[in-house]
Amino acid sequence: MNSLPFAYLIPIFLIALYLILKKKKVAIEPLTDVDKKILDDYVGYYHNLDSTDKLRFEQKVASFFSTVKIEPVGLEMTTLDELLIASSAVIPIFGFDDWQYKNLTSVLLYPDTFNKDFQFEEGGERNIMGMVGTGYMNGQMILSRSALRHGFSKSAGKENTAIHEFVHLLDKSDGATDGVPENLIAHEYTLPWIKMMHEEMEKIEDNKSDINPYAITNQAEFFAVVSEYFFEKPELLKDKHPELYFQLSRIFAQQPAG
Ligand SMILES: [Zn+2]
Repeated sequence: MNSLPFAYLIPIFLIALYLILKKKKVAIEPLTDVDKKILDDYVGYYHNLDSTDKLRFEQKVASFFSTVKIEPVGLEMTTLDELLIASSAVIPIFGFDDWQYKNLTSVLLYPDTFNKDFQFEEGGERNIMGMVGTGYMNGQMILSRSALRHGFSKSAGKENTAIHEFVHLLDKSDGATDGVPENLIAHEYTLPWIKMMHEEMEKIEDNKSDINPYAITNQAEFFAVVSEYFFEKPELLKDKHPELYFQLSRIFAQQPAG
């Protein structure tokens, strides 16, 4: 037996073994004290949690970092940016024990708004603040950093672009982005939910609602827009739209208004 080819195989085998083990064992790095301070200063939702839930939130953020790649495009990304993206992912799923965004591999962070050809420097109609990819962009999300940061600022009101996009992903997890997250809503509540969406859309059309008119685009946008409202101004939503608040708290398994 000629031992030379066999000797060549050993390093190849070891490299293959290393790659397999590396892929299997996803190391979850815990957040640092600096990370926690940033969350506390910039993410109101986290700030309002008790210490037990803060710990749970931190673990979910760390787990998000271990499964989804965040890639800066044309900018230098900061820890704040990464933590805001992860927080936007965690907030809508905080009521669920174990949710993984199976339909997401990476988030691309652009400096500012972009157009439908994903151009952010030139080209027309650069007014998109965030999007969930379809077709060849499946598994990718694009966010504008200015929209991301604005969503967590005091002046954001009922709006938060990044939460909006992650809600689209939740909606999409059953195969259809249609405003009906079938994985999260019991079958018997589906029809009442659709009816409620359309009643509220009519009120928006008649100028009798304080919900962002972008919600009348379609059911998917309605669901994403009212979810932003639900997480950003829960008390106000509960006060002005108690039924909507009730339905959303059932879907997200959360009571952000306390
Ligand atoms: Zn949308």
